[in-house]
Amino acid sequence: MNAQAYDLIVIGSGPAGQKGAICAAKLRKRVAVIDRRLMIGGVCVHTGTIPSKSVREAIFQLTGLAVRAFYGSNYRGNGEISIQDLSFRVNSIISRETEVIRAQLRRNNIGIYQGTAHFLDPHTIEVNGDGDKTTLHGENVLIACGTRPARSSDIPFDGKRILDTDEFTFATTLPREVIVVGAGVVGLEYASFMAAVGSEVTLIDQRPIILDFVDREIVDALAYHLRQMGTTFRLGEKVTRVGIDEQRDRVFAELESGKKVQGDMLLYAVGRQANGDQLQLEAAGLAADARGKIRVNENYQTAVPHIYAAGDVIGFPALASTSMEQGRLASSRMFGAPSEHMPELFPYGIYTIPEISMVGQTEEKLTAAKVPYEVGISKYIELAKSMMLGDETGMLKMLFDRNTRKLLGVHILGQRATEIIHIGQAVLAHGGSIEYFRDTVFNYPTLAEAYKVAALDGLNKL
Ligand SMILES: Cc1cc2nc3c(=O)[nH]c(=O)nc-3n(C[C@H](O)[C@H](O)[C@H](O)COP(=O)(O)OP(=O)(O)OC[C@H]3O[C@@H](n4cnc5c(N)ncnc54)[C@H](O)[C@@H]3O)c2cc1C
Repeated sequence: MNAQAYDLIVIGSGPAGQKGAICAAKLRKRVAVIDRRLMIGGVCVHTGTIPSKSVREAIFQLTGLAVRAFYGSNYRGNGEISIQDLSFRVNSIISRETEVIRAQLRRNNIGIYQGTAHFLDPHTIEVNGDGDKTTLHGENVLIACGTRPARSSDIPFDGKRILDTDEFTFATTLPREVIVVGAGVVGLEYASFMAAVGSEVTLIDQRPIILDFVDREIVDALAYHLRQMGTTFRLGEKVTRVGIDEQRDRVFAELESGKKVQGDMLLYAVGRQANGDQLQLEAAGLAADARGKIRVNENYQTAVPHIYAAGDVIGFPALASTSMEQGRLASSRMFGAPSEHMPELFPYGIYTIPEISMVGQTEEKLTAAKVPYEVGISKYIELAKSMMLGDETGMLKMLFDRNTRKLLGVHILGQRATEIIHIGQAVLAHGGSIEYFRDTVFNYPTLAEAYKVAALDGLNKL
C-alpha cells in the first residue's frame, strides 16, 4: 500500500483538531488534517458555536432587544425579522470563518484531506472522499472527531418540523409556536432566541431543575426573563411520544403526565453523541464507550501510546474554548514540547438572552464545603453604562471568603457577561481578594464597574 506519510494525522478540524495540528506544525512536524467535505472548522463553525452565536447577535440587533430599555418592551427594531435575515448573516460568518481556518492550516503547510476517516490499523487511516479513497500513514494520530446530536429512534425527525440542533441552523421558517425538548445549555439558548423573536416557546425537560451547575439566583433570574418573553417551562416532565398532526399541520408532544403540547416546530436538544463509534477504532486496538467517547490520560493519550484524543470526543467539559487548549496540549505532549497543565479554572458562557457567565465556586458548593463566604451584588440597573446600552437586565454577583476576603466565584447575568467575566477570572486565578476591586480605578462608564459596586456591597456586609 502506497500511503502518504505524516508525523501527525488529525481526524477532525474543529477547535481541538485545528489547534493540535497547528501546534505540531509549529514544532516542524509534517501534519495532515482530515474532515468531511464542507466541514472545515468542525461542528464549532458549521452547526454549533459560531452559527448559534451568530443567530443570537443577529436577533439581538435586528429585534431591537438591545435597546428596549429606551423604547419599551414592545419595540421591534426592523419590524418583523425573517429566517432569511438570520441565515444571510449566519452563512456569511460561516464562510468567512471557514476561509480563515483553511488559510491558517495552509499557511502552516498542513495537508487537508476531505472525506470520512477510519482506521485500517493503528498507524493507517483511510479517507473516503467523494468516490475516491486515500490512505495515510501517521507516526501519531490525534482523534478530534467531536460529536453529533443525540437522536432517539422514537422521534420522527423530518428536518422541517421536527429537527435536531444541527438541522435547526438550516431551518427555513421561524415558528410561531415551538416545542423545545431538552433544557440543557443548547436547548435553553435556542429557546431564548426564539422567544426573543416573538415565538411562543414550550421548554420540556425531565429534570426538575435547569442548569444545576449554575448559581440558583442567576438561574431564577434567567427563568423569570424567559417567562416574560413567552416561554412556558414543563420541567420534571417526560416526553412519551412525538408526532405530526398532518391535517392541522402541527407537531405535538405527549408527556407522561398526560399533557399534550403543540406547536409548529419541535426542536430536539437532548445532548450529544460522540463520534468515536464511527472510526473503526478496533482496527487501532481501541474502543469507544456507549456514548462514543474515548478515554484518555492526563496527557490526552489513549490506551495506544501514539494515538491521542482531544475535544468533545473525550467528554466534559465539551466546550470550544477548552477543546482548543486540549488539542494544543495533546500535540505538545505527543512531541515532548514543554507545556502547562490544562487550567482547572475556566469560565462558562451560556449565550441565552440574557446571557450568563460564571467562574469559580457557587454558593451551593461553598455551603456544602462549609466555607464562610459573603456575597456582593451589583444590579445592572444601577450602572450608567447599561442605561446607555439600553438594556438594564442583569446582575453581577461575587462570592468571597469572609475571613480572608479572597475572591471565590463570580456569576453574571446580562449584557456582555461572557466578556466581563474574564476580569473576575484573572483575579481568581491569581488568588486575589475582593479588596482589589474596591481599590482599583476602573474606566467609567463601563459594565466592568459592576465589579466595583459589588465589591463595595460585599465589604459593607462584613
Ligand atoms: C448548538 C451548539 C452551541 C455551542 N455553543 C458553544 C459556545 O457558545 N461556546 C463554546 O465554548 N462551545 C460551544 N459549543 C460546543 C463546541 O461547539 C464544541 O465544544 C466544539 O466544537 C468541540 O470541538 P472539537 O474540536 O471536539 O470538534 P467539533 O467542532 O465537534 O468538530 C469535529 C469534526 O470532526 C469531523 N469528523 C468526525 N468524524 C469524522 C470522520 N470519521 N472523518 C473525518 N472527519 C470526522 C466532523 O465532521 C467535525 O467537523 C456548542 C455546541 C453546540 C452544538
